[in-house]
Amino acid sequence: PAPDPAEGRRVFAEDRAHLFHSWAAQGAVNPIPVAGAAGRHFWDYEGKRYLDFSSQFINLNIGHAHPKVVAAIKEQADRICMIASTFANDKRGEAARLITELAPGDLNHVFFTNGGADANEHAVRMARMHTGRPKVLSTYRSYHGGTATAISLTGDPRRWANERSGSATGNIAHFFGPYLYRSHFHATTEAEESARALAHLAEVIEFEGPATIAAILLETVVGTAGILVPPPGYLAGVRALCDTYGIVFIADEVMSGFGRAGEWFAVDHWGVTPDLITFAKGVNSGYVPLGGVIVSDAIHETFREVVYPGGLTYSGHPLACAAAVATITAMKEEGIVENAARIGEDVLGPGLRELAERHPSIGEVRGLGVFWAVELVRNRETREMLVPYAAGAGQTGPVDEVVAGCKERGMWPVYNFNRIHLVPPCTITDDEARQGLEILDAALDAADKYVD
Ligand code: PLP
Repeated sequence: PAPDPAEGRRVFAEDRAHLFHSWAAQGAVNPIPVAGAAGRHFWDYEGKRYLDFSSQFINLNIGHAHPKVVAAIKEQADRICMIASTFANDKRGEAARLITELAPGDLNHVFFTNGGADANEHAVRMARMHTGRPKVLSTYRSYHGGTATAISLTGDPRRWANERSGSATGNIAHFFGPYLYRSHFHATTEAEESARALAHLAEVIEFEGPATIAAILLETVVGTAGILVPPPGYLAGVRALCDTYGIVFIADEVMSGFGRAGEWFAVDHWGVTPDLITFAKGVNSGYVPLGGVIVSDAIHETFREVVYPGGLTYSGHPLACAAAVATITAMKEEGIVENAARIGEDVLGPGLRELAERHPSIGEVRGLGVFWAVELVRNRETREMLVPYAAGAGQTGPVDEVVAGCKERGMWPVYNFNRIHLVPPCTITDDEARQGLEILDAALDAADKYVD
């Protein structure tokens, strides 16, 4: 359709008159009105196109407007839009079967939620009832969602305001996961980082009291808080600690699952089977809201006679489940997970490492699949962050300049403190990936100016 700036202004005005936005001071909200989207692009009412290196909220793994998913939603809407979860429904059952077939080990049951936060809420509730213990351990540098338990589990500054306002819940303790570039354990190799991070976790368990701990919850690959890929042996070590102490291992794969990390589930990279996996986002690329918990046989058994005290009106919504069936089927038919892995290995990884050779502001490049972070520094020796952790208003300028440079040139990235995240749809082509890298290359000159 032809550009329509007047309609864009109307859409913007209506938003600002009536919409209350997430994670924002309402007076500072300035959304771009979006007129349409297809594949790896979206565009505004002025006709400006953006290459989507954000996958929106890192959830649009199959890209915009995939015809098979759109058709499945339409077909389902014609048949039946809503049937309560007390009834059996073909798409609900099929979606659960497909998800459990992809999941490792004996993760054979699915409880559907509306998104990722409530998936984590329910996983924790299941773990607490299964063990009869109250406490949950989760990492600093994590994001688990915006509801009360999920934000309390979160290890990033978004938790603080919720704690100050009394909206957070208790019985949660945080620990440090592995992060070699800024090692909390003075490690210099991945093997050291893995061993010392595990020793730290073992000590936290010991000091918190193993008999009080229901679950350890962690993102398999930490997403928003850094795209931190665990070193070899770390997840197996967490699994072993959980086994030793009878603690439930919950892997939050809300962001890392369904192709993002180049596997169906990121745990597949390390051959580790958690007791519960939480998912959302990529399961149907967010075409209709859907999340859930994949449950092991043993935890399922706990609730064979005991009533599970939780549920949702929209648990297993037929439109969302039909979208999940179509998404998973299309991803299999079109080799989309394989594409994500290959793009990471052949284009994004090598391309970003090449940028790191030329841009002194790049401290580290890390990731896998279509899940990459560029960590920006003022000084490569000291590793001083280009903008500080928990940077507030007035402190984010240098990274804002890089992001603005990307957007001006028609690429939409994600950023968090001193990092730019490159997280395009799993369907991205080699040429599109290279185009995104070229834009980033040009935009990074703004960061290089700040290097001392
Ligand atoms: N867990 C992780 C790892 C996430 O990245 C997110 C969202 O970004 C969530 C949980 C929360 O998911 P939702 O926003 O669907 O509630």
